[in-house]
Amino acid sequence: MGAGPAGSTTAKYCAHRGADVLVIDRRKEIGHPVQCGELLPHAKEMYSMFPRGIELEELFDIDHSTVDGESDTIEMISPRGRAYRIPFSSHVLNRRSFDKRLAKGAEEAGARVMTGTSLLSVDESGVAETTAGQIKAKVVVGADGPNSRTAREAGLERPRPSYPAIACRTDSTFGSEVRMFFGAAAPGGYAWVIPKDRGANIGVGYSQAMCSAKPTELLKAFASWLGVSVREEALGFVPLAGPSRRTTSGRFVLVGDAAGHTMASNGGGIPTAMIAGREAGRVIRRHLEEGAPLSDYELAWRAFMEGPLIRSHKTLRLAGYAFRNDALTGLAMAMLGRRGLDRAIRCRRLFL
Ligand SMILES: Cc1cc2nc3c(=O)[nH]c(=O)nc-3n(C[C@H](O)[C@H](O)[C@H](O)COP(=O)(O)OP(=O)(O)OC[C@H]3O[C@@H](n4cnc5c(N)ncnc54)[C@H](O)[C@@H]3O)c2cc1C
Repeated sequence: MGAGPAGSTTAKYCAHRGADVLVIDRRKEIGHPVQCGELLPHAKEMYSMFPRGIELEELFDIDHSTVDGESDTIEMISPRGRAYRIPFSSHVLNRRSFDKRLAKGAEEAGARVMTGTSLLSVDESGVAETTAGQIKAKVVVGADGPNSRTAREAGLERPRPSYPAIACRTDSTFGSEVRMFFGAAAPGGYAWVIPKDRGANIGVGYSQAMCSAKPTELLKAFASWLGVSVREEALGFVPLAGPSRRTTSGRFVLVGDAAGHTMASNGGGIPTAMIAGREAGRVIRRHLEEGAPLSDYELAWRAFMEGPLIRSHKTLRLAGYAFRNDALTGLAMAMLGRRGLDRAIRCRRLFL
């Protein structure tokens, strides 16, 4: 269920001759609207975050037609305007075409993709009711994002949707640095400017526990402070409560945002959704071909990602205390300094 990065990657890796792999997505157009900042770290940065024997080149061999720009620096900016420059190379995606490209990859591998089709319910025998009728599946993959209906139907924990984030396009141009603004612009999170070759993606992600304003109000205030006009706003939720305790049950497998596979200290979830998707796809394929248990997936993604994701979540929890207001945020950023902030972004321990 779901043709985002998690679902399409899972489908690509489990599709093989003889297997009938179907991806359904409720969106009419895959990848649209774009509820995303569209930043995807280069593989070398991912290696610095997930260092345990993972092979990423093939997964992050990105089709250049889906890239709208490149950046080699992140500037983290304190409420008083002090900038901490972190060398960090990333693609700036065009997610509308990126997600379509991933879905095409799944189709090329043999999967079928059905858009405009919502999952309504699914029972433990794998019978799913959808808006296009009943579908029966041996394995049901929940790659349906933070409000995963699949997780709920499977009786698995759903990530808590406590961090709203809103992104939009502006035609205004900026330098090539990604900029993250901390403080009142986005309490408990950050506001961003992610420059593209033409225009930029700007947005705000914040903690509802620390701010009762509506996402659109914060975005409007941020855009007005930047002096830009915006279009194509799209709101989503980022699951930042750490990875789910269980991601398999019976014939159900959860991947990506549906499994809490988001890096809480930077808000990114595209690469982790793809890494987990590949592991899920490989295990499902072995399950169908050789009867391997689906719970192998639990072991596989945890071996690569659990440590960094848990550390990243701890950092976010610390930030919840230390970034309570502008003065404390500035102080905490000064104490961490460029190195500490670099470690936070890379899901590492803050203090050695
Ligand atoms: C505003 C914002 C900015 C972000 N910026 C970044 C960023 O710059 N970099 C980064 O790495 N991450 C970012 N993220 C996080 C990133 O977008 C997600 O982590 C990533 O998309 C997870 O991929 P996924 O495949 O698990 O879920 P999704 O991409 O959410 O895909 C889930 C799919 O499931 C479909 N679906 C949902 N329910 C159903 C249903 N009942 N039936 C059928 N289909 C269903 C949806 O239509 C959707 O296509 C951002 C998130 C937000 C909200």
